[in-house]
Amino acid sequence: RFAYVNGRFVRHGEAAVHIEDRGYQLADGVYEVWAVFGGKLADAAGHFARLWRSLDALKIAHPMSEKALTVVLREAIRRNKVVEGMVYLQVTRGVAPRDHAFPNPAVPPAVVITAKRVDRAVAEAKAAKGQSVVTVPETRWGRCDIKSIGLLPNALAKQVAREHGAVEAWFVDEMGLVTEGASSNAWIVDAEGRLRTRDTQANILRGITRSSLLDVIAEAGLPVAEQPFTVEEAKAAREAFITGAGTLVLPIVRVDGAQIGDGAPGPVATRLRRLYIERAKAAAI
Ligand code: PMP
Repeated sequence: RFAYVNGRFVRHGEAAVHIEDRGYQLADGVYEVWAVFGGKLADAAGHFARLWRSLDALKIAHPMSEKALTVVLREAIRRNKVVEGMVYLQVTRGVAPRDHAFPNPAVPPAVVITAKRVDRAVAEAKAAKGQSVVTVPETRWGRCDIKSIGLLPNALAKQVAREHGAVEAWFVDEMGLVTEGASSNAWIVDAEGRLRTRDTQANILRGITRSSLLDVIAEAGLPVAEQPFTVEEAKAAREAFITGAGTLVLPIVRVDGAQIGDGAPGPVATRLRRLYIERAKAAAI
């Protein structure tokens, strides 16, 4: 395996950044993850747009143009012989003596890219079975719209999920409303048969898979409301699922141990998974 580190590809096992990289010391950086279908980037434009938005929000300079970055991402995919998988990009503010305030003058942002294979057959089997989520209190900061590498609450939440045999943890705010997953957006098909997912005016990440799936849903003419739901509504829902570049559209059949519907992936989630993958494959670049 090979990783891209600040301008060159190096062996993955030897890839390293400086101890005073601000990502390492202060989580002062952002990241993006693209699904790879047939060796191509899925939802490429959406992920690029969010990357620029995240960098701008933190006043980190764009390390390269979209064109140049596309070339490097493709090279990471090629060198790692990834046909089906994911590519990860991280940009930090760079290396500077430890100080909370930004280095002045600014230093070049540090860029790391890795690519890995995903066994789609294993992923399909997991989706066909349906997976579990647990809920945890929302403890994150007020700028969850920035795809920051500061993921400690997400890591702690995912560990709780792991310990309960669940694939994901859903954060729940003080109102009892689900915000999103630790690394995915949360959806239900509510008791009235409407698709529901929290609006992005709230403090959540604007999932690119979420956004593409909304297009799929509009094309399919399915009823949808960008409205938050409570844990109780999720438990009483017909179906539940999560979306993300890693999970695509993944049926959820258990929330905090309570069975959703008949305990099997629902028809809507199953259909949306298929439609999303078809569309993403066709549009991959
Ligand atoms: N919410 C959070 C907190 C995430 O980390 C992710 C995955 N990066 C998502 C939602 C889903 O976003 P996307 O569909 O762009 O992968």
